[in-house]
Amino acid sequence: MAEQTSKAAELKKQLAETRQNGWNRLAAGEEQAVEEFCKGYMDFLAEAKTEREAAAWATRALEAAGFVPLMPDAAYKPGDRVYRVNRDKAVVLAVIGKRSPREGVRIAAAHIDSPRLDLKQHPLYEADELAYLKTHYYGGIRKYQWPTVPMALHGVVVLRDGSRQTVNIGDQPGDPCFVVTDLLPHLAASQDKRTLSDGVRGEELNLLVGSRPFNNDEESEQVKLRVLQLLFERYGMCEADFLSAELEAVPAGRPVEIGFDRSMIGGYGQDDRVCAYPALMAALQLDQPEYTAVTVLTDKEETGSDGNTGLQSAYFRYFIEDLAEAFGCRAREIFSASTCLSADVNAAYDPTFADAFEKRNASYLGSGAVITKYTGARGKYDTSDASAEFTGDIRRRMDAAGVVWQTGELGKVDNGGGGTVAKYIANLDVDTIDLGVPVLCMHAPFEVVSKVDVYMTYRAIAVFFGD
Ligand code: MN
Ligand code: MN
Repeated sequence: MAEQTSKAAELKKQLAETRQNGWNRLAAGEEQAVEEFCKGYMDFLAEAKTEREAAAWATRALEAAGFVPLMPDAAYKPGDRVYRVNRDKAVVLAVIGKRSPREGVRIAAAHIDSPRLDLKQHPLYEADELAYLKTHYYGGIRKYQWPTVPMALHGVVVLRDGSRQTVNIGDQPGDPCFVVTDLLPHLAASQDKRTLSDGVRGEELNLLVGSRPFNNDEESEQVKLRVLQLLFERYGMCEADFLSAELEAVPAGRPVEIGFDRSMIGGYGQDDRVCAYPALMAALQLDQPEYTAVTVLTDKEETGSDGNTGLQSAYFRYFIEDLAEAFGCRAREIFSASTCLSADVNAAYDPTFADAFEKRNASYLGSGAVITKYTGARGKYDTSDASAEFTGDIRRRMDAAGVVWQTGELGKVDNGGGGTVAKYIANLDVDTIDLGVPVLCMHAPFEVVSKVDVYMTYRAIAVFFGD
């Protein structure tokens, strides 16, 4: 009997697939690297809360690392570093490889926008001596999650005279915050009868921004007036300047370590800055890669990649066209020979809500970078399904380099779905697959990831670029 069992165990080891926790698969000394990398990531997350702030952060890092604007008429040699910023909201960068880009480039694409509450164009109003800002939510949020969370306001206002004011209030020490209110349980009898998706409605996501009147004379709406006075003092703006503003209400505060064991990171906006940061770091550490390594940090993924800063626009193609011109080849030659990691998050299996997932094909927190062969919804609509050949190639390279990785499908079939920028890059005739970090409570004001997965996503992208 004993002999039979050990034979089975041996065969199982040889043939069957087993999942192992990422922490148990770290190489000697790698735990230190995980901690160091995640410390840098948490600082980035605290400083880059919007696409503009992430683009500015990346630009500073690139300029410090010797990246210069890409010029189609320049001559480049291996190791040269070029970049381009699109309207302060998206960044493309490349480290020139030893081989000509004509032989293909390696692309990592992540997005730096996250779900949030944008201010409407006429946002400020007073109701019963309280001042509010009307919002229009951006991206897919579960609206009931956003009230009673301290919020900060980030963005820009273009004033009547054309000058641009930067707004960043609620995240610096001593700053006030703002909040969307919700009912107390004592009086929620009728709200409680709504469905969860309707529990808090879009037009109820109003940001509380003041309660003190300007003075006590007969003039109406004095609470709003005082807010306007403070806005004028601080930003030189008046009410009409909201018309030409991009102001984003985002959860206030720094990311934190989660768990007695500090194995996780909790914070706002990790989808997809948790992949953008590893992608940027993987590019920065390159010296002279074999293939030119291109990183794109894009905007507007959460709303469908439309608009001139989203990946459906031509800005990425133009970058490759200019690169092609510098090397005397055609962009289509580059695209057709290229490969891409669409670096985006996937849903981590949540045991509390096990029913939403298909356990055999879900990704797990702490089991490493998740490779997602296809995304989409229903019968694989809206997806670029990576080929077996390309998936096999990535798999071999990850294994050879000791990257801890897993696969994951987004939840149960027909239980929803979602997409990434993978299909927009794949549509350019590029072999593309999703790789990124599994996330708990994705798109909530506070998202949770595992440190080991963040680090392994960095390693995966570095390996993808590096060989
Ligand atoms: Mn994403
Ligand atoms: Mn998302």
